Amino acid sequence: MKLKVIGSSGGEFPGHNPPAFLIDDVLLLDAGTIGASLDEASQWKIRNILITHAHLDHIKGIPFLADNLVIKSRKQSVKVISISSVLVALKKNLLNNSIWPDFTIISAASKPVLLLKVILPRKLFKINSYKINAYKVNHSVPAVGYIIEDKKGRRLLYTGDTGPTGEIWKYARGISCAIIEVSFPNRLRKMALKTGHLTPELFLKEISKMESFPERILITHPKPLYRRQIKDEIEKLALKNVKILKDGEIYNI
Ligand SMILES: [Zn+2]
Ligand SMILES: [Zn+2]
Repeated sequence: MKLKVIGSSGGEFPGHNPPAFLIDDVLLLDAGTIGASLDEASQWKIRNILITHAHLDHIKGIPFLADNLVIKSRKQSVKVISISSVLVALKKNLLNNSIWPDFTIISAASKPVLLLKVILPRKLFKINSYKINAYKVNHSVPAVGYIIEDKKGRRLLYTGDTGPTGEIWKYARGISCAIIEVSFPNRLRKMALKTGHLTPELFLKEISKMESFPERILITHPKPLYRRQIKDEIEKLALKNVKILKDGEIYNI
């Protein structure tokens, strides 16, 4: 499984883009950044987008990707996949012909540019040869994390945004790579808990809930203004194979 980090930040500054992870060039995991970082050919390759929740920093690439596809008269659709409440929020608040055109209707071909596909938590589904499960996590809005298994049996876990949570860790067995959020430094623990996020200390408690430790843990979603501090606090935990992600990195999982 090839993982390309398009964005891995809990905010936006030059060089720090909101979360989006491209798997094997075709499957996008969250869509905080697309057009600002991917060239034309790479954008056209994306056929499926898995969304963790409807917060703007995880979806804002979608309307611009849809616009690019229509302007170029690309006769292709992109599936936007998530739990029902997330897709309802996306349609009602963004693709509503007020904030942005409704690209779930607009089309350059027989099918609309965006196809919204509802999945259920804890119910296995397939995209190409990937086996995928969604698990509810604990954020300020309805949110899920994903475990994605490729045909070689390599397993990627992505928490999306979450505070201390339970379910996803129970299913976190044989994980090749876990992408886990840490948004705030330890001194902002209260704010992290209130907004459904983790600090390095809370992160340590969360990963101890897993039966077996992933081969590799990548930290995502630090608030850019606290990145340095969070990095220091993560390094102090002295954990093997744990590192903070940087936009543009590529991992072979
Ligand atoms: Zn969020
Ligand atoms: Zn976020």
